[in-house]
Amino acid sequence: MQQLLAERLQTVEQRITAACARVGRQRSDVTLIAVTKTVSSDVARLLPGLGVVHLGESRPQELWRKAAALPTGIFWHQVGHLQRNKVERTLPLVHLIHSVDSPRLLAEIDAEAHHQRRRVEVLLEVNASGEEAKHGFGPDELTDLADEIRALQNVSVRGLMTMAAYEDDPERCRATFVLLRQLRDDLQRQLGENYPLPHLSMGMSNDFEIAIEEGATMIRLGTVLFEGLPGGKSA
Ligand SMILES: *Cc1c(COP(=O)(O)O)cnc(C)c1O
Repeated sequence: MQQLLAERLQTVEQRITAACARVGRQRSDVTLIAVTKTVSSDVARLLPGLGVVHLGESRPQELWRKAAALPTGIFWHQVGHLQRNKVERTLPLVHLIHSVDSPRLLAEIDAEAHHQRRRVEVLLEVNASGEEAKHGFGPDELTDLADEIRALQNVSVRGLMTMAAYEDDPERCRATFVLLRQLRDDLQRQLGENYPLPHLSMGMSNDFEIAIEEGATMIRLGTVLFEGLPGGKSA
């Protein structure tokens, strides 16, 4: 299993490097986050030894479970919807929350971070593809948020995150990624250079190369790494 994962990682690395090269970016500009939601803790445990220390989970309960089962030294990313009543237990464990999708959640994280005397880094999730079922701020809601973001005491917004719609031809995801970058640039202008928004979390198994070409600094990969590997609630 370790061998198979190593081979998949090698292939993915080559694809990431090639996508960076096409647009003159450095490999180090892009962080690979392995989204481990479909695999067991036993599979996830192999990743640091293979050089992958950024791990993501979609459901907070699963992040808690895996964070408890795996050694320290892993940077955990909450990439799926976070309910407000899960904020308290999640904050001590996470490096970055990608999925802040409402002003209420932003306020709750700020209040809980104050309570826990932490600084918390987050991304704002944007529904840039316009699909109804998706979480996230609408593109035109973001510009109203600048004052609120500046007023946060314990939370730093570090950029934006989106999920593109699934397309058989990933080239069709490009417009979503371009839009996210433009929205980030707009918000950046509003916030000014003292409040940097360096991050664009975009690109999944189906479309990560396009996302890198359009400026992704974090890609979130599950299927391309873990398809067919043992999952379930085993460990
Ligand atoms: C599952 C998931 C991913 C990974 O998706 P794949 O298509 O399997 O690579 C990325 N981001 C989020 C928010 C997810 O829930």
